[in-house]
Amino acid sequence: MSRAIIASALVVLVVAGAAAAQERATFTVGTAIAKRGQKVTGAIEVPRGVDAATGIPVAVLHGARPGPVLALVSGAHGTEYTSIIALEKLIGVLNPAEISGTVIIVPLVNIASFEQKVPHVNPIDGKSMNRMYPGKMDGTQTDRASYLITKQVVEQCDHLIDLHGGDLDESLRPYGYWTRTGNENQDRISREMVLAFGLDHIIISSDRPRDPAASRYLENTATTRGKPSITVEAGHAGTVEPEDLAALVGGCLSVMRYLKMLPGAPTTIEHPVWIEKVLTIASERTGIFYPLVRRGTYVEQGMKVGYVTDYVGNTIFEARAPAAGVVLYVCAVPSMTKGATIANVGVVAVQNR
Ligand SMILES: [Zn+2]
Repeated sequence: MSRAIIASALVVLVVAGAAAAQERATFTVGTAIAKRGQKVTGAIEVPRGVDAATGIPVAVLHGARPGPVLALVSGAHGTEYTSIIALEKLIGVLNPAEISGTVIIVPLVNIASFEQKVPHVNPIDGKSMNRMYPGKMDGTQTDRASYLITKQVVEQCDHLIDLHGGDLDESLRPYGYWTRTGNENQDRISREMVLAFGLDHIIISSDRPRDPAASRYLENTATTRGKPSITVEAGHAGTVEPEDLAALVGGCLSVMRYLKMLPGAPTTIEHPVWIEKVLTIASERTGIFYPLVRRGTYVEQGMKVGYVTDYVGNTIFEARAPAAGVVLYVCAVPSMTKGATIANVGVVAVQNR
């Protein structure tokens, strides 16, 4: 077969697959089985393996009319509270009678993290729940959960939004990620999605794994399977501020309007700040951290962003910006260990996009 014939055969397959999903009378994720026009909640049951079983809550909103399948996922890091509360709100606010298409909402992937107030990892196995995709059933709880989310959420959706935020120890300003794959059509749609989401700083990520069998991140699991998808971050350091919450709830609704799942026009950001590179400033010493910048501060190369003292007040490390850019997040607490992140600086893209 020529390349053109293979390509058109693929297009036919993809279109047929999407159409089949649209025509489904019922839509099932885990124990949630929704008929057209219904909102049903349930759980993705993760069976016991080398460690404990868990049940990841899910809501399926099977719209009255056919349309795309959008997955909204948060709480891989269970103490990034704003993103979790945003999806809880959306479960309540969205009315399947008004939706064209289907929304799968998974508001809290990492329940143990939330309940035990443990940032960054699943305390059951010490793994980040956004690094083990596509997962496997013969691994620990995070591996098994990741596998089932890949099968039941990623493989069933056309688009995915993974919601995060600053964790308990991260003072973060809101931003989105646009993953550039090199597939023109997919990249155009995901770019329009991230603009429709409306956050005014957007990281262009082109360094994510290309292999769907080693996708690591949730959004990348959808992206490497050809599904235009984005990641967004808002909220910081254990707080749930109305402004951050509104940005995430409003962003999801706006993307749904862009995808024509809801009536009305999206509120698209017109001239966002594009970030071409993210530089991490790590501490070279263990001690007490004192920040000199805030989330969102613009810094010049060499500017002091904070310092670390020993436990009797002697300065033992000065942290400086490795390049000019914007402080995407800065450590929000005094506890600092050698190698830990002091701040992430986003370098503004030179080329106008
Ligand atoms: Zn996160």
